[in-house]
Amino acid sequence: MKILIIEDEKLLVKGLKKSLEQEGFKVSVAYDGQEGIEVFETGGFDFVILDLMLPKLDGISVCRQMRQNSDVPIIMLTAKDGDIDKILGLELGADDYMTKPFNTRELIARIRAITRRLEKIEKSNKARKSIYKSGNLRVDIESRTVYRDDQRFKDAMGPTVDMESGTVYRDNVRIELTPKEFDILELLIRNKGRVFSREKIFELIWQEPCLDTRTIDVHVKNLRDKLKELEPDTTMIETKWGVGYYFKKD
Ligand code: CA
Repeated sequence: MKILIIEDEKLLVKGLKKSLEQEGFKVSVAYDGQEGIEVFETGGFDFVILDLMLPKLDGISVCRQMRQNSDVPIIMLTAKDGDIDKILGLELGADDYMTKPFNTRELIARIRAITRRLEKIEKSNKARKSIYKSGNLRVDIESRTVYRDDQRFKDAMGPTVDMESGTVYRDNVRIELTPKEFDILELLIRNKGRVFSREKIFELIWQEPCLDTRTIDVHVKNLRDKLKELEPDTTMIETKWGVGYYFKKD
């Protein structure tokens, strides 16, 4: 993990750098706000420790400038308690602050806590965004694939019969959708339970006014047929008569 310290008190920087390096961090240093921005723009920093009172460009301006195109975690350092209100009041987007003099152990603990929290958020965002489920159906938005994930047929190759219901399933693997079919499925499954009119689906996916709603009906029919191959027993895309289509809620 690469950390940038922007701080003009050389002695403080020296001690902090040493402690952070002992913890396994890679540390770069800048001694004024202007230099801080320049070093930051060379890229690759995972964390910034930023002093409030700095020569050339103060910490608030530095923080603002960084936030314009980066959400790197920032801990602000302040000399007096009174500054805290100032920092918080400005809604700078700093992740935390510490008042000098501070305990280096505590600073490191906070760096680790913030990093862990951000990693967790990132992870759950990713998981939430990339795979949508409905029964055994999986829609992977990133790779744009649709497949079954049914543990009963985990190792099956080719058609499989569920002895209990007598249903014949095709591969447990995946089905091929056309790009437009996938777009429609993605729209509906991302918004389970919400009804979309044919016109709205067309406008959202084709990005132009809908002239013929039958286009949507044809695509939805094909999509349903393909999904039925995966899950013969369930209708996942429902029709709301006179309104449009929606994906059934679990
Ligand atoms: Ca200072």
